[in-house]
Amino acid sequence: MSETIFSKIIRREIPADIVYEDDLCLAFKDISPQAPTHILVIPKKPIPRLSDATSNDHVLMGHLLLKVRQVAEEAGLSNGYRVVINNGVDGGQTVDHLHLHILGDRQMQWPPG
Ligand code: AMP
Repeated sequence: MSETIFSKIIRREIPADIVYEDDLCLAFKDISPQAPTHILVIPKKPIPRLSDATSNDHVLMGHLLLKVRQVAEEAGLSNGYRVVINNGVDGGQTVDHLHLHILGDRQMQWPPG
């Protein structure tokens, strides 16, 4: 069980600009956007990192990806977007609650930094 700022957002203890919610996940705007559209999709289950997900989470993991697709569509990202999961220290993860970044409304570059 990991307690992070995202747990507080799920419990509405701190504010967030929530754009989607269901029983399994929450989507809200990133507080420090790295693109004109930057939304985070998180599971309500406090899985710290992608590397902590197990085969028991396979339905949830599929759900998150499909909700990324839905949220991106509802955000109007019809020209494409990038989905990012930072995992662990080398991955640049700063909040230990699994989250999928949706970045859009600008041209992305490759390779990422
Ligand atoms: P990562 O570096 O992949 O762990 O991403 C964490 C993300 O959470 C960063 O893009 C932060 O800007 C974002 N973030 C941190 N605190 C908040 C918050 N209170 N509300 C919305 N986004 C946040």
